[in-house]
Order: sequence, then structure tokens, then C-alpha cells
Amino acid sequence: RTRALLQQLPPQDCDERFCPDLAEEERRQLRAFSARRRREALGQGLACPVPGPCHGCPCKKCGRRLNKGDPGISASRLGDQFWHPSCFSCHFCHQPLVDLIYFQQDGRIYCGRHHAELFRPRCASCDQLIFMEECIEAEGRRWHLEHFCCLECDVPLRGQRYVMTSGRPCCRSCFESLFAEPCQACGDPIGADSEEATHQGLRWHARAACFCCSRCRQPLRGQPLVCRRGRLFCSETCSLGRDASSTTSDSSDSAFTSAPSPDS
Ligand SMILES: [Zn+2]
Ligand SMILES: [Zn+2]
Ligand SMILES: [Zn+2]
Ligand SMILES: [Zn+2]
Ligand SMILES: [Zn+2]
Ligand SMILES: [Zn+2]
Repeated sequence: RTRALLQQLPPQDCDERFCPDLAEEERRQLRAFSARRRREALGQGLACPVPGPCHGCPCKKCGRRLNKGDPGISASRLGDQFWHPSCFSCHFCHQPLVDLIYFQQDGRIYCGRHHAELFRPRCASCDQLIFMEECIEAEGRRWHLEHFCCLECDVPLRGQRYVMTSGRPCCRSCFESLFAEPCQACGDPIGADSEEATHQGLRWHARAACFCCSRCRQPLRGQPLVCRRGRLFCSETCSLGRDASSTTSDSSDSAFTSAPSPDS
């Protein structure tokens, strides 16, 4: 219940003591915002049997009829409306409202969190409402300017290049060390900025120093190549030269597969 309560009624939405980093102007806005919501939207549902005059009226949420004497919930801010107890839930997240505490807007009921988000973006990092003029938006989520930081090293990414990964920003260098595939030749990650050559699911830097014949070092970009056990050769001759002592040769490779374009 405590968890649901914190989820539905985030204390930082209405009490500046939970937002220690706010500037004075943001504090002022938070106080005004919170006071207005209390005054105009906040209410608590009342559980009571459906009274006679409302016999047969539709549940505000599911539309199925409520009969006289059925358990029902009414909300004083929404007049003579009734809900099934299980239907008294947030219009946005559909969670049953803890202690029947609701916020109304345009005839609908919301939990505190989602009611606040009708008016203010919420920072995906600190979970506080954003009262600054500016915020950062990426993939449908929002951040305080100073909270848009690398998920790994926490470096601020405002105005920097970044990569989004599972909805969170990551700086270029962390992204490369975390997620980039290593080059078969040099072992370094192949960054998003560098060209890549692939063959049979293996990857190389497309540069001549990496994507080249393992024996004679001839660059293989755009050239026919032979791939044996993850190593590249310019020709059957070079590949056999290296593998001459081996009793088995990898016959599944075609001798003249051309490299796919590096940006494929
Ligand atoms: Zn219902
Ligand atoms: Zn909700
Ligand atoms: Zn934030
Ligand atoms: Zn980083
Ligand atoms: Zn390389
Ligand atoms: Zn060669």
C-alpha cells in the first residue's frame, strides 16, 4: 500500500521539502501548482450503497448498470455519478485509487501522479515535476536540463552527443565500451562513428589496417575474400599458406564472397 501510495501521490509533487534542488522561482511555482490542485481537483471517493434514485444508472467507468443497494463509490466533485468499487481507478494508469483519493479533470478521475502530468512534464531521472521553462525531450520522455546525464558515468549530456538505450541517455564513450562490438582484427570496439565491415556475422573496422588479409595485409574492402575460422584472406593461396599444416579446412566458406558494403 505504501508503494502504491508513493506511486500515486508522489510527495515531491506537493511538498517542496522533497525537492531540495529547486530554485526559488520553481519553489514558488510548485507551491502555487499544488495549492491550485488541492483547491480545484482533489477529492476522496465515498463508499456507499447505490441509493434508490440512482437505481439502474451506468457505472462512470465501465458503463454497466448499478442497482439500488449495490456497493458503489461516489465522488463529490463529479456530482451524482457512481462507480463500481473496482472501477474507481485512475483514467490513465487504471490503478485502483488508494484510499479513494482522486483528482478530477474534465469529468475524469486520476491518481495524483497522472493528474499532475496533465499539466507538467515529469523528469525521467529524479521523478519530480519540471517547472523550468526548458527541459530535454527524447523518445517521449522528459528531463530537467541538468538531470539529462549518462546512465553509466553520469556526465551531463545537455548539448552533447548521446545515444538512447532502453529509454535512457548514454554518452558516446560509455556506449561504445558497453555496447559496441569488438573488431575481429584489433579488438577495439567499433564505435558508432567508424565504418564497419561485416562478414558471416563477424565485424571489423572497415579501415585497411583491420579489414585486410591476415597473411599479406592487402586491404580487402570491396575485394573478394576468403574467411577461415574468423580470419580473412585475400585469396585461397593466402588462406592455405596459413592453414597448410591443418588437416581440416573450413569448406563451408565460399572462396569468393565479396564483402558487404561497410555501412550495411
Ligand atoms: Zn464499473
Ligand atoms: Zn494514474
Ligand atoms: Zn530531474
Ligand atoms: Zn558515460
Ligand atoms: Zn579494428
Ligand atoms: Zn593475402
